[in-house]
Amino acid sequence: THLNGSVVSESESAMATTTAPKDASSESDVEVKEVATVKEETKPKHSQPVNTTEKRILSSVGLMEYILESSVYPREHEQLKELRLETVKDPWNVMMSTPDEARFLQVLLKLMNAKNTMEIGVYTGYSLLATALSIPDDGKIIAMDINRDFLNLGWPSIEKAGVAHKIDFREGPAINTLDVLLGEEKYHNHFDFIFVDADKNNYINYHPRLLQLVRVGGLIAYDNTLWHGSVALSQVQMDEMHLHEIVRYYQPFVVEMNKFLAADSRIDSSLVSIGDGVTLCRRVV
Ligand code: SAM
Ligand code: CA
Repeated sequence: THLNGSVVSESESAMATTTAPKDASSESDVEVKEVATVKEETKPKHSQPVNTTEKRILSSVGLMEYILESSVYPREHEQLKELRLETVKDPWNVMMSTPDEARFLQVLLKLMNAKNTMEIGVYTGYSLLATALSIPDDGKIIAMDINRDFLNLGWPSIEKAGVAHKIDFREGPAINTLDVLLGEEKYHNHFDFIFVDADKNNYINYHPRLLQLVRVGGLIAYDNTLWHGSVALSQVQMDEMHLHEIVRYYQPFVVEMNKFLAADSRIDSSLVSIGDGVTLCRRVV
């Protein structure tokens, strides 16, 4: 099966055959082997090499390709595409948000007239640039990551797109940065939109802090809440499928977070099956 000009295996079988770099300090995803390359003449018109390390939840590769080619790539900003193609060269590219999800978030941001935003987990900046392009010129993104180096790859595209001035990057563990923000009254009830895409075991710790920082009616989007489809599997099933240890390790945290969000009356929520799953949480009180 081919997608975006590259052959990818179906996500579950891919997970069973993958390896990830050992010194993973960032989001723990799996790296999927590229199996083969599609012949030039069989490539669709807008086809381009992207993430060969897919973790998307939609199992029909043909349908996924249709979505990308028909509705996502034709609207993808030039620098967003440039950043994506640069990121594909990075060994950690599996961490990049999928283009269809970024497109979805862009429409959502504009629909909300979001101006003050936050991102936890930046990597090379694909979702960051998508956000920066969708907020007004005086809009802001407080962007957090434990590692600034990844962003060096995407920064030239962000500058070229003319949106670098919207970004306030804070390096360090997000929990510390959130506590710094909480120490400043002006950030309470301040954010229209918060995208959480970092260490899955800490989502549960970010949540009470984010509820104080997001405004009533604002949105917190938690990414990867379907966690490669593993959330629906039992330990025995995960054993049988030989899922990568990183997927297995974080699975109970994601399951726990999903359970918590479903029962949290302070928010209104929807787990959307796009990308690797994103749970939208609107603060109601
Ligand atoms: N949002 C990015 C995108 O769309 O391309 C992908 C982010 S990547 C999945 C996760 C990022 O979270 C990594 O860059 C990693 O360095 C960062 N991260 C991991 N643990 C963190 C923590 N405790 N605090 C802040 N960032 C963290
Ligand atoms: Ca993600």
